Amino acid sequence: MKIEVRKYDLLITLLFLVLPFFQSCLNAQDNFNGLREQMVKRQIQARGITDKKILDAFRTVERHKFVLPEYIQYAYRDSPLPIIENQTISQPYIVAFMTDALDLEKDDKVLEIGTGSGYQAAILAQICDSVCTIEIFEKLGKKSKALFSELGYNNIYCKIGDGYKGWAEHAPFDAIIVTCSPTHVPQPLKDQLAEGGRMIIPVGKYPYQNLVLLRKKKGKIRERKILPVRFVPMLDEEGEKYTP
Ligand code: SAH
Repeated sequence: MKIEVRKYDLLITLLFLVLPFFQSCLNAQDNFNGLREQMVKRQIQARGITDKKILDAFRTVERHKFVLPEYIQYAYRDSPLPIIENQTISQPYIVAFMTDALDLEKDDKVLEIGTGSGYQAAILAQICDSVCTIEIFEKLGKKSKALFSELGYNNIYCKIGDGYKGWAEHAPFDAIIVTCSPTHVPQPLKDQLAEGGRMIIPVGKYPYQNLVLLRKKKGKIRERKILPVRFVPMLDEEGEKYTP
């Protein structure tokens, strides 16, 4: 009898010890959900993005899972953040703006150049049937691939290599998004764009780049500059920047 009472006491004490831990996990989750909703309203909706499927994707994808642990409290800020290999996860609004510019449909096949943290690919994977993404840094490519499977994405196909060359085996693509900046639009990417396809790409010499939107119609490509931006440069396999 005595022993049973002690056991019971021990159980109660243990419960009181672990309860605050679970409580704080729940609070943190609530906090992130609130911050994410704020990000959607203030940074994305308020700046003119109204497409429900894009807003829903931003509500669903947990950006705090794509940032480094030391930046987790800044995950929903209106800014880019550093990731490994001296690269960056883009500002949420820029991710939304570029996604919006692509006029995506559910059954589109999308190619992304510059997987980085994987955040942009995850957003695209919420909207479209399949996303192919290429990253030049092996460490980054492996890290984001592991994250995609941990989060249950089975429509993101990853490759480690030079995205300048595109991904011929999966071409043509209905949409191409480039999240690192070459000084000119790579010809292989133009070639791999499907008829009616769209491409959004930052072009220029760091730090003076413009987002350029391209459309292929009847085999011809039309392009127009839409926004001045600053992206990390596109690198080749030797780690050199692409020059004209
Ligand atoms: N889309 C990313 C943004 C990453 S920043 C995100 O959502 O987090 C751009 C990325 O492009 C970097 O990870 C960089 O390593 C990668 N990159 C640079 N040159 C590349 C190339 N030639 N091919 C593929 N990826 C490249």
